[in-house]
Amino acid sequence: MSLNATSPQEPKLQLCVLHVVRTYDLTPHMRRIVLGGRDLETFDVPRNALGPYIKLLIPPKDIEPEWPVLNDDGRLIWPALERRPVMRTYSVRHFDKGNCELHVDFVMHGDRGVASAWANRAKPGDSVGLWGPGCTTTQNIDWYLFAGDQTALPAIAFILENLPATARGEAYIEIPAESEKQTFSKPLGVDVRWLLGKGETSALQDAVKAASWPAHSRVFVWAGAESAKARSIRSHMRAQRGLDRDQMYILNYWRRGQAEGGFGYLD
Ligand SMILES: Cc1cc2nc3c(=O)[nH]c(=O)nc-3n(C[C@H](O)[C@H](O)[C@H](O)COP(=O)(O)OP(=O)(O)OC[C@H]3O[C@@H](n4cnc5c(N)ncnc54)[C@H](O)[C@@H]3O)c2cc1C
Repeated sequence: MSLNATSPQEPKLQLCVLHVVRTYDLTPHMRRIVLGGRDLETFDVPRNALGPYIKLLIPPKDIEPEWPVLNDDGRLIWPALERRPVMRTYSVRHFDKGNCELHVDFVMHGDRGVASAWANRAKPGDSVGLWGPGCTTTQNIDWYLFAGDQTALPAIAFILENLPATARGEAYIEIPAESEKQTFSKPLGVDVRWLLGKGETSALQDAVKAASWPAHSRVFVWAGAESAKARSIRSHMRAQRGLDRDQMYILNYWRRGQAEGGFGYLD
């Protein structure tokens, strides 16, 4: 899931320097940061993207940020370590092209995480870099199965808001408390099931493993969650349901006890 390769089907990758326009809390543990800037004039995400994501370049605290530059091969050349921003992956929750505003929703998991701490202190005018977007797309799907913990809620909400009205399927979303529920539009034929689970609970995996879909339908399973949950869902779909690699997109969104960069998205 690196963002180095491009193909004609993929959105154009861009390196942007943006600023915080406004921030507000959606729920007790989810904060929306609205980003803006001229660089978004040429940015776009396909509406049919299944969870478009970006790499945010978080500047070091209290130091004037120095951004990477793109070389002729389209690769990022990074500044010296002490001035280098830290890269973290986030979903595009919403892109308002008319107003050049990008909405990114952060799970506030405390100040241990570079991105979570940044979201906690971010104020209008603060700079942040962006490299992206990246995404996956599918076609001719009869039945979608979505699963995610709270970090995948922004991606699932984006997908459901943009799926064709005729789409059918189920979405399982694990949240730590009732107060973390959100509302968003979705196709009538997609059922959203909220699961309450905190920490290492198996609520998400259990629900997904018990899920069924209409016989002979072309199924696509999309999931994003803490790596133990994602791995369990991935191996179930392969071994028990016999799904091929191109019928699923199941990513380790984060790993307990490890910062991003210390694990693979598909380990
Ligand atoms: C494609 C993709 C899209 C994603 N979209 C989103 C999104 O829209 N919103 C979002 O909030 N996250 C999203 N994530 C997950 C996010 O990238 C990780 O949670 C990331 O680790 C956060 O970075 P950080 O700097 O805050 O923490 P890190 O510096 O990476 O980690 C520091 C510590 O915090 C722990 N940690 C990391 N995330 C969490 C968490 N959620 N809860 C509890 N502990 C945690 C780690 O285990 C580690 O011990 C996405 C991930 C991927 C791969």
